[in-house]
Amino acid sequence: MTMERLVVPPEVIALIETLTSSGHEAWCVGGALRDALLGVPQSDFDVATSATPEEVKRLFPRTVGVGEQYGTIGVLDRNRVLHEVTTFRRDVSTDGRRAVVAYGVSLDEDLARRDFTINAIAYQPVTGEWRDPFNGSDDLAARVIRAVGNPLERFREDYLRILRALRFAARYDLSIEPATWSAAKESAGGLSTLSAERVRDEWFKGLRTACRVPQLAALWRDVGAAELWLPGLSPDLPDSLSAQPRDPVLLTTLLVSDPVELLRRLKSSNAELARAAAITAAPGEPAQPDPVAVRRWLAAAAGAADDLLVRWELRHGSAAPWAAEVAGVRARGEATTRKQLAVSGSDLLAAGLAGPAVGQALDRLLERVLEEPALNHRDTLLALPEVRP
Ligand code: ATP
Ligand code: MG
Repeated sequence: MTMERLVVPPEVIALIETLTSSGHEAWCVGGALRDALLGVPQSDFDVATSATPEEVKRLFPRTVGVGEQYGTIGVLDRNRVLHEVTTFRRDVSTDGRRAVVAYGVSLDEDLARRDFTINAIAYQPVTGEWRDPFNGSDDLAARVIRAVGNPLERFREDYLRILRALRFAARYDLSIEPATWSAAKESAGGLSTLSAERVRDEWFKGLRTACRVPQLAALWRDVGAAELWLPGLSPDLPDSLSAQPRDPVLLTTLLVSDPVELLRRLKSSNAELARAAAITAAPGEPAQPDPVAVRRWLAAAAGAADDLLVRWELRHGSAAPWAAEVAGVRARGEATTRKQLAVSGSDLLAAGLAGPAVGQALDRLLERVLEEPALNHRDTLLALPEVRP
């Protein structure tokens, strides 16, 4: 792979020059270089420097401590865009979950603690110099993911790296080098020690970025991650799942047998759990594609209707056959919820109903209106037998 000069945003170059003119080393590192070498546009250039976090904070007027205990300071440029500047560091101790770090190390030592060779490349945009001690650019050219150093040790230091390998493999359609792959499989049991939040973030990021979702799911299954964290993952999945846009919660409801339980284990937010529950509970499709059945389905699906339409499309690779009817119902403004009825609970109280009878009458009225939208006028509804106490 040719290691040419890279186009680096002027704000990043200015940041690096501020550091170097104060006597520090400063390099672009991480994902942006990998993406640039792969020809994927990236703007998110992380900076690694010999300056300590304290020195970084002193050199720039506007900073935020984004991960200060790991040496990362956010530097805001004049457009208030945040750039991550991380002090060269080595991992002092790891417990398979998080690291304690030490500063005062060289760039090469900093690159050595990174996970994969393709992520352990550095570039100095002022001098045009590259640093690639583990030949990550060769692995990129060969389209291979390889752990830096001994893969078993690297996975034992941080089991999340196993999931990161799967994510990068599916994102760029790379293969995982055999020794790295067998170490990942051998170490997969350690994934159970990860926090649910870190696993969820990896799963969701993977779903968002995989070129093909079924490939990502197969990797999670084959390495042994699915049996621990994604029980009930479907074995065969249609490639239409890879359509855009990617919605991790919706995709998860398609991929596993008990999505609500799985998302609960992954400590998803209450809003995400409620959404998955609504999708799972609702009827997947109307009994027939006719207007009455479609209105009944909209009433039953409530807030999950749009998710169910997208889900159908992902599963079958074409729009749901009743999608046009849904659009028609909505365009005509036909009621499919109690709230859209032309009478309210207080109208029914005024008509002499009380207590639970009010809600029951509203349900009966909605049922009539679903069948016959033209009934949805206040006087018409109040004259119907459904309203009588
Ligand atoms: P993305 O495009 O997903 O942000 P990235 O490579 O920038 O990809 P980050 O998670 O932002 O990924 O991490 C930045 C860099 O930090 C990586 O390229 C890698 O060198 C290093 N890194 C991140 N997480 C780990 C880890 N768990 N173990 C070792 N190195 C890591
Ligand atoms: Mg990144």
